[in-house]
Amino acid sequence: ERIVSSEERQDEANIELSLRPEALDEYIGQTAVKDNLRVFIKAAKLRNEPLDHVLLYGPPGLGKTTLASIIANEMEVNLRTTSGPAIERPGDLAAILTSLEPGDVLFIDEIHRLSRAIEEILYSAMEDFCLDIVIGKGEVARSVRLDLPPFTLIGATTRAGSLSAPLRDRFGVMARLEYYKPDELGEIVRRTGDVFGVRVDDLSAEEIARRSRGTPRIANRLLRRVRDFVQVEGMDTISLPICQKALELLQVDRLGLDHIDHKLLLGIIHTYKGGPVGLETISATIGEESMTIEDVYEPYLLQIGFLQRTPRGRMVTEQAYHYFGLEGSTE
Ligand code: ADP
Repeated sequence: ERIVSSEERQDEANIELSLRPEALDEYIGQTAVKDNLRVFIKAAKLRNEPLDHVLLYGPPGLGKTTLASIIANEMEVNLRTTSGPAIERPGDLAAILTSLEPGDVLFIDEIHRLSRAIEEILYSAMEDFCLDIVIGKGEVARSVRLDLPPFTLIGATTRAGSLSAPLRDRFGVMARLEYYKPDELGEIVRRTGDVFGVRVDDLSAEEIARRSRGTPRIANRLLRRVRDFVQVEGMDTISLPICQKALELLQVDRLGLDHIDHKLLLGIIHTYKGGPVGLETISATIGEESMTIEDVYEPYLLQIGFLQRTPRGRMVTEQAYHYFGLEGSTE
């Protein structure tokens, strides 16, 4: 598996849980989102009402789940967690909703993956705090309306665009999480080091931050791997030389790109003179699924300006040519 993938790995869930900040003030970066939430939370508490429904969107690993649990903490209510794919039947959702206590937060990860039937049940639950369910089948089928306790739905998605409009419209707060700046990631790395009980010197924190693709999950993962190297060498502090050596062995380059990013960019450069070239063609050339390229590899390459989307396909930029020490195609 890719070390710089922003997706959560199976073995990571428990470690991540231990690393989650619990209060808004401990949540690093995302200043605009935090400032807004602080006001909304305070106002809701003053009115003694649940917080408005919140939609968090942005690439994986940027802290959506973490923020949802912080919101529940700050509101001083329980957090219930589930995900779009886990709610298969209307009954699954009804069971969760009817077990909530007033003011609770229900977090639905990957909310864009809810089926249409489930989405429709959510509409009235979100808007009127009631549930219309059909009991029985055929002629004896009848609809019953159940009252629900007022609650806050927090939905998280990597693709806000694939949410249906009626669902999107029912969120009072929409917050887009951005890639983190290197100094913010450095802070996250130092914080994680504290939790792990390993000293990370400033230069190493910066180095790991630079190679983390703007993503806390990747920063924490790289730190864990580097810590392994350091401990095997019998040291107790992560210093720059060993940090760089470890990251090199992990094949993460100085911008956080790995062999797949290189294959993708160099593939377009060498085979298609830098593009433009269609996504499907790239997919066939490098042997990766086009969905994966679009959701997982591409966003960061677009973000750092190495790749451009044009109506005629993807193009590698001058900047990327320079990075590989190559002459640009348009020169
Ligand atoms: P997402 O739900 O967006 O995929 P998570 O909330 O699971 O991301 O975050 C992944 C990891 O990164 C968590 O272990 C969390 O501790 C860490 N993390 C994310 N955002 C922050 C932040 N702003 N400050 C500190 N740590 C963070």
